[in-house]
Amino acid sequence: MRDSINNKIKNFNHDFAMACKDSKRNEEDISIIAVSKKHDVSLIKDAYQNGFNNFGENFVQELEKKAAALKDYEITWHFIGPIQSNKIKLVATHAHWVHSLDREKIILKLNNQCKTLNKNINVCIQVNIDNEVSKSGINPNKLLELSSLIETQSNLNLRGIMVLPKLSNEIEETKKVMEKCFALHANLKLSHPNADILSMGTTSDFKAAIESGSNMIRVGESIFGKRQ
Ligand SMILES: *Cc1c(COP(=O)(O)O)cnc(C)c1O
Repeated sequence: MRDSINNKIKNFNHDFAMACKDSKRNEEDISIIAVSKKHDVSLIKDAYQNGFNNFGENFVQELEKKAAALKDYEITWHFIGPIQSNKIKLVATHAHWVHSLDREKIILKLNNQCKTLNKNINVCIQVNIDNEVSKSGINPNKLLELSSLIETQSNLNLRGIMVLPKLSNEIEETKKVMEKCFALHANLKLSHPNADILSMGTTSDFKAAIESGSNMIRVGESIFGKRQ
């Protein structure tokens, strides 16, 4: 098992380096979140030994369990899943970043919890760039409004946007959507210069994302293998 994850990481590191080289991007300018959802703590330790320290989780109970088990590790936890209002306290307690904000009610509650815990967290707004009914995230035309709301919250640092472009077999289609995301983010930065993060790209499309200007990719399968 350990050999297999070390090999996967070796391959991923190679692909990542090539993607950066091909797009003339500096590797240091792109953060990698290792998405560890549905994988065991032991695999997270292996990835950590391989140099990863940003991990992404989608489910609150899993985040809680793993953060407790790995409390002696210097890990930055990113919550990237949908947030239910009754789980906000746990998210606020364990996450350093939340990528999936898309509702006013959740934003206000998260800020209140962070205040109670006396901590600040980094947040991104999830944008539903293709307006897919099945997906979370705001309509792009709501972005500035929600950003302004977050800026008024004492304990939330607005850091950017998170997008999950529609999967397509046509890489050119994907890139078109990603360029739209880049432009949307560039426009956001004009009025919110601290919102410097474009969280875009997963196993299936991180190369296109890097080419399109992403500076934070969220990769699960390429690092940890298939999820059950
Ligand atoms: C699961 C997940 C990922 C990782 O996807 P892979 O295909 O395993 O790389 C990235 N972002 C979000 C929001 C996810 O839910």
